Amino acid sequence: MTKAYLNRKISQRVANGHPWIFGNEIDKINGEVQAGDIVEVYTHDQKFIGKGYINPKSQIMVRLLTRDKNEVIDELFFFNKIKAAWNYRQKIGYTENCRLIFGEADFLPALIIDKFNDYFVIQTLSYGIEVWKTAIVNAIRTIFNPKGIYERNDVPVRELEGLEQKKGWLTEPQDTTIIINENGLRFYVDIENGQKTGYFLDQQDNRRAIKHIVKDADVLGVFTYTGTFEIHAASYGAKSVLGLDISENAVAQATKNAELNSLSDTCTFEAVNAFDVLKKWDKAGRQYDVVMLDPPAFTKSRENIQKAVTGYKEINLRGMKLLRPGGFLVTSSCTNLVSPELFIDTIHMAAKDAKRKLRQVTFKTQSSDHPIIWGIENTNYLKFLIVQVL
Ligand code: SAH
Repeated sequence: MTKAYLNRKISQRVANGHPWIFGNEIDKINGEVQAGDIVEVYTHDQKFIGKGYINPKSQIMVRLLTRDKNEVIDELFFFNKIKAAWNYRQKIGYTENCRLIFGEADFLPALIIDKFNDYFVIQTLSYGIEVWKTAIVNAIRTIFNPKGIYERNDVPVRELEGLEQKKGWLTEPQDTTIIINENGLRFYVDIENGQKTGYFLDQQDNRRAIKHIVKDADVLGVFTYTGTFEIHAASYGAKSVLGLDISENAVAQATKNAELNSLSDTCTFEAVNAFDVLKKWDKAGRQYDVVMLDPPAFTKSRENIQKAVTGYKEINLRGMKLLRPGGFLVTSSCTNLVSPELFIDTIHMAAKDAKRKLRQVTFKTQSSDHPIIWGIENTNYLKFLIVQVL
């Protein structure tokens, strides 16, 4: 097998368990390699580090799949990993819907699989994992006997790997009207045209956390997408719920979901730009008991963290100003580029500007079906905070 040798001086990241090896960390490669080949990786002084797939075109040149020299990377390897991931999800309480494979956190770098009841949505985001797509589909078929497997590979990051963007069924084409159950409610999942894989499972545990604070409350939900938090609020006994999203398509989906749960009387949605209306409504003196914010990442690159922070601060400041004294702010950030500490600092700055005091109710991360592996920082990405705004 082809061997890659690391530079003498490399960071401790790889030794500490991180599976990514950048091109500039490799000193030499012993033999010819093609994108997708499995290679063995050694330190400069011949110590075995692991085995993984290589892509000479990618900045992340090798992603390790195993640290065991004797483990063979074949169809069975993928079957075993996917089975183990499902066993783990079941062990911690997931039954119907979950992120079945969360890439690096399930030791299958660049692979995402979301399970929506009997349907599976997969993303193969690197060349080396794309090569194993048939093996992955076969494993899902064997373990779950699914109704359908859909590929959402319409993701720009694939182009950095020399892969095309595409989407479609990997099994017999199906009707794409999929309904899932979450916390006793029902939601349509648009796996074909929805954002990412069609539905954000990473907040599924957090949606339960609003249960007590929304009772009898006037609730404003901003960045609603499919209306999940808002519909939970209505079902937990909110007096009124208004959800906002800039996308007409999102508002249409959210409205359909409210109807599906017979909650359209309390729960309505509007297509607006949150940054514009929150300012206007503050001036007009509107007040709510609960404001929920679940904005997009605001940045995808390290260079633009400041831009993201400015966005988070602005929207949280606006949210706080719309709250009656003693009201609750439910606020999230979904990019790993903003650390939990930086997120808290940003909310704190917003509170200072709004001249309000905060009492922390809960501070969480993503749902447990998106495991965090200590030592692989980017697996820890979501911040979910509830504060009382005094
Ligand atoms: N709360 C949702 C996820 C929200 S994703 C859930 O639990 O599933 C972020 C959403 O913010 C997207 O639907 C996007 O359309 C919306 N969005 C982005 N910029 C916006 C803006 N300026 N005003 C309102 N909505 C915006």
